[in-house]
Amino acid sequence: MARDMMAAFELYQPDTVEGALELLGRFGKEGWALAGGNDSLDWFKDRVKRPRYVVDLTGIESMRGIRELPDGGVEIGALTTLTAIERDPVIRQRYGLLAEAASKVASPQIRNTGTIGGNVCQDARCWYYRYGVNCYRAGGNTCYADTPEGQNREHCLWGADRCVAVSPSDTAPALVALDARMAIAGPRGEREVAAEEFFIGPNIDIERMTVHEPGEVLTAIRLPAEWSGARWYFEKVADRNVWDFPLVNIATAMFLSGDRIERIRMAAGAVQCVPRRLTVAEQVATGQPKTEDTARLAGQSAVRGATPLNYNHFKIPLLQNLVTRAIRDA
Ligand SMILES: Cc1cc2nc3c(=O)[nH]c(=O)nc-3n(C[C@H](O)[C@H](O)[C@H](O)COP(=O)(O)OP(=O)(O)OC[C@H]3O[C@@H](n4cnc5c(N)ncnc54)[C@H](O)[C@@H]3O)c2cc1C
Ligand code: SF4
Repeated sequence: MARDMMAAFELYQPDTVEGALELLGRFGKEGWALAGGNDSLDWFKDRVKRPRYVVDLTGIESMRGIRELPDGGVEIGALTTLTAIERDPVIRQRYGLLAEAASKVASPQIRNTGTIGGNVCQDARCWYYRYGVNCYRAGGNTCYADTPEGQNREHCLWGADRCVAVSPSDTAPALVALDARMAIAGPRGEREVAAEEFFIGPNIDIERMTVHEPGEVLTAIRLPAEWSGARWYFEKVADRNVWDFPLVNIATAMFLSGDRIERIRMAAGAVQCVPRRLTVAEQVATGQPKTEDTARLAGQSAVRGATPLNYNHFKIPLLQNLVTRAIRDA
């Protein structure tokens, strides 16, 4: 396959959501929504994805910026850059978990142009798939990673269903932990989906990682007042701290009542095709004192049922330790 230069496409630059929806609806599977381009341009340059029509969303001003909502929550336009989120005083003060997660994505250059919408809509980072092999996710009938010699160090511990790729996003688990709502605009108007339901596994659709359909656009992410001001913990473990995707990350939001954990939400990234909500660990910790013992018990419970592949056993103790630290140090 020639990888010398990007294949030609027709570029469209709408300045309203309605305009983008009309174009994406018209082009169907031959269209591509473009935000900061960090993920998209890799695909185009490698000629693995070759859309005929690219709809550049970046001229749609209504999809940019951070606004406080009358109900006490905060709305973040999908085109807001990760740098803007990391630096925003309201996000830092009220939803520090998301500011921290955004600050851990990739590198400063990528965060300066990479949008939160692109971060949560990005495709799987399995190297076989990225290289352009015809695996299950690409419409074929085999998985190259889930073989005895397959390179599956980065792949999943749960939710394997033909494909064993993981959710690669650093902000996605933070949004699940904060119980964010995702606003999706489509031909029939706007619908709002909980972050936890926004991400989908191969059992639902092996060729997509989110519920949004080709003719729809993620316009905003809404953080609820209920988790404003929560104590939080975020940690990402990667081979290198700049550039690299998470091997495992952990996002936790909690409120205490005295020394007891009154409410807690936890999610881990890069262990399943969706950010994995750690409900058993949450149940173990809820109502308990925030002590080392509680943290250890929750850590042990978080890894129950994990099914490693040949080269990713290390993720089990890694996740266990991250959960323990998250509860102890939040
Ligand atoms: C070298 C490198 C390292 C990286 N490291 C990390 C990392 O450590 N952690 C991490 O989380 N990510 C990482 N990324 C992934 C990603 O590029 C960035 O996270 C970035 O935020 C993507 O945003 P973008 O605006 O550039 O997306 P784009 O490339 O423009 O879009 C990405 C995808 O999302 C879709 N999309 C974008 N916006 C919308 C929208 N509003 N509605 C519907 N669909 C939309 C596009 O169609 C495309 O499929 C890395 C990328 C690179 C190239
Ligand atoms: S893990 Fe998924 S994306 Fe990777 S080769 Fe297997 S089917 Fe393809």
